[in-house]
Amino acid sequence: MMSKRIIYLDNAASTPMSDAVIQHMSEVMRDIYGNPSSLHEFGRRARVLVEQSRRHIARMFGITPAELFFTSGGTEANNAVLWGACNAFSCSNVITSRLEHPAVLQCLEALKQSMGITVHFVDVDELGHIRLDHLEELLKKNPSSLVSLMHANNETGNLLPVKSVASLCSQYNALFHSDTVQTVGKFAMDLDRSGIDFAVASAHKFHGPKGAGFMYIRRGRLLNAFIKGGGQERNMRAGTENVYGIAGMAKALEEAHQQLEEVRQYILSLKKECMALLKKEVPGIRFWGDPEGNSLHSILNIALPAGTNSEMLLPALDIEGICVSSGSACASGSLSGSHVLKALGADPAQSSLRISFSRYNTSDEVTSFVEVIRKLSVRK
Ligand code: PLP
Repeated sequence: MMSKRIIYLDNAASTPMSDAVIQHMSEVMRDIYGNPSSLHEFGRRARVLVEQSRRHIARMFGITPAELFFTSGGTEANNAVLWGACNAFSCSNVITSRLEHPAVLQCLEALKQSMGITVHFVDVDELGHIRLDHLEELLKKNPSSLVSLMHANNETGNLLPVKSVASLCSQYNALFHSDTVQTVGKFAMDLDRSGIDFAVASAHKFHGPKGAGFMYIRRGRLLNAFIKGGGQERNMRAGTENVYGIAGMAKALEEAHQQLEEVRQYILSLKKECMALLKKEVPGIRFWGDPEGNSLHSILNIALPAGTNSEMLLPALDIEGICVSSGSACASGSLSGSHVLKALGADPAQSSLRISFSRYNTSDEVTSFVEVIRKLSVRK
C-alpha cells in the first residue's frame, strides 16, 4: 500500500516520540509494573526508577531532586503552581500578559472568581515582547505579587528576557512563575541560577510521551498541594506516579541534552531557510512576533498575504499532507481564534499559520511546504 507523504510541521503542539524513548518505555511497561508506593520487590523497583529519573532530570537543570515534582504535563503543572502559590503565599495580585497559554489565563480567571485575586496585564510592544518598563510600573504599585510570564510564546515563538524579569521580581519581592513548556529540552537551563521560582515542563513537547511533565518549585517556596488524596510526590501531587511516562520523559530529556546546540543550530537553519524562501516566493508575506530577533528557533508564525482564502487553507494543506496549526485571529474551525494574534492587533480576516520544527524535519520538507503555500496564497 502506498502511504501518503506527511510533512509534520506542528511540533509546538506535539512531537513524534524518539525510538529510544519508545524502546525504554516499552521495557519499563513490561518489566516495572509495580506501584512505587508498594513495599515489596516490584514496588521498590518502580520507586527506584522514579527516583533515578528525578535525580537525572534535576541534574540537567542544576536543581536538587527535592525541588522537582512530577505531574501529568504542562497544564496541570501551571494550574498547580498558580493555585498553590496564591494559596500558600496569599498572593492577591498576579501580573501576567494577555499572550499566555490558556492553562495560565483560564486558571487565573478561575482564581479571580474563587479567591478574588486581581490580575494585572503587562503591556507588550508591537512585536509582542513584554514591556519591561510597564512590568516595573506594575510591580512598583503591587509589590510582593506573583508574576507569571512564559519563557517562549507557543504561537509566535517570542522569548522572554528571563534575567531582566527575574531581577525586577527580586527587586520588588515578587514570586516568578514561568511557563517553560516550549523551551524545556531546547536550551541548557540552570533553573537554580535563573531567578525563576516555578517552572514547568511537558514531555510530549520534546519527543517524550504525552501525560508526563514536571514542575520545579524552588526550595523555600513550597506550595499548597493542588491535587490531594495521597502522599505521593512528597505530599505535593497525589496519585500513583506515571512510572513509564516519567522514565520516558527522563530518557527524552537525556537525548535532547546530549545534542542541544547541534539541534538548535539545525532547526534554526530550517527556520531561516523557510523565512527566506517564503519572502522570495510569496510576495506580501509577513511574520508575527520577532522571528529574526529574540525568538525560539523552532516556531514561525506566518501572516499570509491579504486575500488568501483562509477558509480553504487548513483543509488544502491537509490534503497536501502538511500538518501545521492555524494561527489566525479568527480561525475557521476554531470557535474563538487565536487570543495571541488578537492581542497583537491581527485582522480577523487575515490568514495566519504557525509552523514549528523539530530535529526530524528536513530542508526538502521546507521546500515542499513553501511551494504549497505559494500555490495557496494566490488562490482566492
Ligand atoms: N503551556 C504552553 C506554553 C504550551 O504550549 C502547552 C501545550 O500546548 C501547555 C502549556 C500545555 O501542556 P500540556 O499539553 O502538557 O498540558
